[in-house]
Amino acid sequence: MNGAYLIGGENRTSSETFGGIEAATGQPLDGAFSITPQGDIAQACALAAAAFDAYRETTPAARAAFLEAIATALEARAEAIIARAMLETGLPQGRLAGELGRTTGQLRLFATVVREGAWAGAVIEAALPDRQPLPRPALASRTIPLGPVAVFGASNFPLAFSVAGGDTASALAAGCPVVVKAHPAHPGTSRLAGEAIAEAVAQCGLPGGVFSLVQGPGNDIGTALVADPAIKAVGFTGSRRGGVALMAVAAARPEPIPVYAEMSSINPVLLFPGALADRAEDLGKAYVGSLSLFAGQFCTNPGLVIALDSPDLDRFLAAAAQALAGVAPQVMLTGAIAAAYAKGIATLTAGEGVSIVAAGPDGNAQSGAARLLTVDAAHLLANPALTEEVFGPSSLVVRAKSTDEIAALLEGLEGQLTATLHITDADHALAAPLIPVLERKVGRILANGWPTGVEVSRSMVHGGPFPATSDGRSTSVGAMAIHRFLRPVCYQALPDALLPQALQAANPQGLPRQTFA
Ligand code: NAP
Repeated sequence: MNGAYLIGGENRTSSETFGGIEAATGQPLDGAFSITPQGDIAQACALAAAAFDAYRETTPAARAAFLEAIATALEARAEAIIARAMLETGLPQGRLAGELGRTTGQLRLFATVVREGAWAGAVIEAALPDRQPLPRPALASRTIPLGPVAVFGASNFPLAFSVAGGDTASALAAGCPVVVKAHPAHPGTSRLAGEAIAEAVAQCGLPGGVFSLVQGPGNDIGTALVADPAIKAVGFTGSRRGGVALMAVAAARPEPIPVYAEMSSINPVLLFPGALADRAEDLGKAYVGSLSLFAGQFCTNPGLVIALDSPDLDRFLAAAAQALAGVAPQVMLTGAIAAAYAKGIATLTAGEGVSIVAAGPDGNAQSGAARLLTVDAAHLLANPALTEEVFGPSSLVVRAKSTDEIAALLEGLEGQLTATLHITDADHALAAPLIPVLERKVGRILANGWPTGVEVSRSMVHGGPFPATSDGRSTSVGAMAIHRFLRPVCYQALPDALLPQALQAANPQGLPRQTFA
C-alpha cells in the first residue's frame, strides 16, 4: 500500500511514519504511512492559494466535469477502498458499499448544482439615472468562493464524510481548493480516496494545488493547517473537544476564519400518547434498530427519548428491552472510541436516578455493548450533564409527569441536529406548541421515522445550533452545503467589460439571474 501523502498532486514521503490499526483486533495493519511534516503542510496551503484564482474561474461545466471525474475515479477503486475500509473501521462490506454510493452520489449532485448555476447568486439592478432625489448607480452581485478550505475527515464516515466526502465535494463545487487532513484511524482508505481525487485533478488539467492530502496522528497537523494564513475556511466532523479546539485556533489567527464543525448531538425523540397507544411494541423494536445501527456510531443516533409516564410507555420499554438484550456487541471504529463509549456509559449510569433497563452482551475492548437506560424528568432537569453525547449503541429514556415538564426539558437542551416526533392525528394538539421550541433547538424535525439515515438532497439540513455544529446557519449534508464556502461581492457601476462573466450583459455562462429594473 502506498504510504505517501499528496502535496499538490505529488507523492511525498517523510522519515516519520505511522500505521493503520485493524479495528476488530487492535492489531497493526500492513503499510507505513508518512507523517506530513510542517513544511509540507505549509506548501500544500501555498499551492492551494496559488491554484485558487485559476480554479475559481473554471466554467461551471468544467468544474462539474471534475466532480464527476472524482466519482468515476472512486468507482474504479471501489474494491480496494471497501476492502481497506473494512479493516480500518470494522464496518461491514454492505454498509461501506452503500457509503461509497452515497459519496459518488453527492459528488454528482454537486456537479448538477454547479451546472444549474443558482449558487452563483447573480443579482442585477439596472442604473436609475433619473431617480429623485439621487440617481442609483448600476448594481450587481454574485458569490465568489472563500479560498482554500481545510477539511477534516470523520472517523465514522470513512468515505462519505472523509477525504472525498461531503465537505470536500461542497468546497470543490464552490470553487475552493481543498487540503484534507486525513483521519488517523483510516490512513489507507484516505490514501486511496486521495489518489482518486489527484487523478481527476490531473485528468481535468487543473492545477495540482487544487487538492492535497496530509496525514498523521497528533493535533499538531490539524492545528498547523487551520492556522495557515492561506486557509480561508474549515470543514470538520468529529468530537466536541476537537471541534472547539479548532474553532479556537481559527479565532486566534490574525485573520479569523469560519469553521463549520459538526460535533455532538443526542437527537431527542418525543413519543406522544396516541402513537404509544397505537404501536408501542413496534416503536420499541424500531428504536433499538436505530440506536444500535453500526454500533450507534452516528451523529444522528437517537440518544434521548422523552415521553409522558404511562402503561403504554412501559409497553414500549419492555419491547425495546427485549430487542436490545439480543443486540450482539459490535466492533467500534477505534479502541479509543470503544473506551470513550465505556467511560460514557459508566458516567451516565452513575448519575442520580439513572437505571439500566436492558444490556446487550458485553464484548472485548474493541467493541461496544448496547445499553438502554431510564431516568425521570426531574433528575434530568437537575443534572443536564446526563444529556452529553455518549457516542455508541446506547440511549436514555426519560419519563415525564406532564407536558410542561417535557417543554422544560426541551428548553434546557443544547443545540441538536434533529428532533423526532412519533405522533398520530390525535397528538397534533400536544405537538403543535412544541414545534417552535424545536425549531430553535434543531436543524431537522421529523415525524414517524428515526433520525439515522440522512438523505443527501436539495432541502436537507444537517446542522443545528451549538454544539450540534459551530455555525447553525448552514448544513454539511445536501446541496445547500455549497453556500458555506461562498461569499457575496457587489459591483457598482462597473463597465460591462470589467464585470465577471456571471454578470455581463451577454451572460456567456447562461447562469440563472435575478434582474430588477
Ligand atoms: P476527533 O478526536 O475529534 O478527531 C477528528 C479529527 O480532528 C482527527 O483528524 C483528529 O486528528 C483531529 N483533531 C482532534 N482534536 C484536535 C485538536 N485539538 N487539534 C487539532 N486537530 C484535532 O474525533 P474522532 O477521533 O472521530 O472520535 C472521538 C470522539 O468524537 C468519539 O468518541 C465521539 O465521542 C466523537 N465523535 C462524534 C461524531 C459525531 O458525528 N457526533 C463523529 C465522530 C466522533 P488528530 O487526533 O490526529 O489530531
